[in-house]
Amino acid sequence: MNVSHRFDAIIIGAGAAGMMCAAVAGQRGCRVLLIEHYTKLGEKIRISGGGRCNFTNLHCRPENYISDNPDFCRSALARYRPADFVALVERHGIGYHEKARGQLFCDGSATQIVAMLERECASGGVEWRMPCEVEGLHNPGERFVVSTAQGEFIAPALVIATGGLTVPKIGASPFGYRIAAQFGLAVVPPQPALVPLTFDAELLIRFGSLAGISLECEVRCGGGRFRDHLLFTHRGLSGPAILQISSYWQPGDALEIDLLPALDLQAWLTGQRGSRQRLDNLLASVWPKRLALAWCEMNGCAQPLNQLSDKRLREIASGIRNWRVVPSGTQGYNKAEVTRGGVDTRELSSKTMTSLRVPGLYFIGEVVDVTGHLGGFNFQWAWASGHAAGHALALAR
Ligand SMILES: Cc1cc2nc3c(=O)[nH]c(=O)nc-3n(C[C@H](O)[C@H](O)[C@H](O)COP(=O)(O)OP(=O)(O)OC[C@H]3O[C@@H](n4cnc5c(N)ncnc54)[C@H](O)[C@@H]3O)c2cc1C
Repeated sequence: MNVSHRFDAIIIGAGAAGMMCAAVAGQRGCRVLLIEHYTKLGEKIRISGGGRCNFTNLHCRPENYISDNPDFCRSALARYRPADFVALVERHGIGYHEKARGQLFCDGSATQIVAMLERECASGGVEWRMPCEVEGLHNPGERFVVSTAQGEFIAPALVIATGGLTVPKIGASPFGYRIAAQFGLAVVPPQPALVPLTFDAELLIRFGSLAGISLECEVRCGGGRFRDHLLFTHRGLSGPAILQISSYWQPGDALEIDLLPALDLQAWLTGQRGSRQRLDNLLASVWPKRLALAWCEMNGCAQPLNQLSDKRLREIASGIRNWRVVPSGTQGYNKAEVTRGGVDTRELSSKTMTSLRVPGLYFIGEVVDVTGHLGGFNFQWAWASGHAAGHALALAR
């Protein structure tokens, strides 16, 4: 016999946003059910930040997020700040440290964050079904009916927290986008983001031998601009600067890269104008040697500086400061850290994350068209949007 179980809210997806939302709503008196289809809980948290989870960023601002509707994230981020999550982490006695630029990591292991969220859910009396596949979902009247192999669950509120498409082997699915489509809500087309970029065969012949070289650069594309490290790989480009700019890159776009942002290159080269030193040797004093040799060979400029005209030196400086390269693609969802795009925020209330058209239907976390920069911003969005929805669920009860 198919027994129906009633809750105040059903949350689908027990990742960062889903667990935060469940804990907040549960602790405020809601009877909450959390449904997860994967065999393990918070798996993306566990693998994040190299196993140490970069769980927030102290300098989190709306400007650190990309969305078709850039102001949408303001309200939730203002009501649940990095300091709020840090206070939670401290209450649970989890050691942490700042690595760089406001990025906070666990001293021990990311599993401590998963365990902390589990304890928070337990203290809110949250019920679980895991692993549990959702087989059907409908919305007759003012309630949602979720059918699963473990029974039918009914609630007046349904929260979709199923994340994006990144790393499908640990549970990612297009479920959230499908539910949005089922209810006629717009979705900004998803794309891999924070992802290494690839070169075509021709570029690989030229630059493939540079694999392993890392250097500081400034990269610009599509309105984004980042100064950080770039890494040449056997498939193209990676490193934090490239991961960041990949969130702004569209197929066909050129990246504009300054390969020596710390120097006034033109003045530096002109200052050595009469020198008998070869240009590749001079560049090797500020670049990895392998890059200096290869760059000068590719550009036919390995001569002594006193054999290079002012015009040629200007061209060389400009080539290094404005290297234009068109990647052929990205390494896709298996290597991406997040999914850009998602449920169109114009469909949602920025205060509660509820659908403006379907009462009681909420979307939180990465499934929403809000994508953070690298450095703890994506988790902060998951916590903040989960917290906003959790609060709203308790108020609506
Ligand atoms: C390798 C890696 C490292 C990262 N490191 C960091 C970092 O250090 N700092 C940072 O800020 N961000 C990091 N991120 C990004 C961050 O993990 C995500 O932005 C964040 O987890 C999003 O939270 P979420 O709850 O929206 O989605 P998720 O955490 O992805 O959770 C979604 C959950 O829904 C479940 N689900 C999916 N479909 C269904 C379905 N049909 N039925 C039931 N359940 C379903 C999934 O199994 C998953 O448990 C990293 C991502 C990756 C891939």
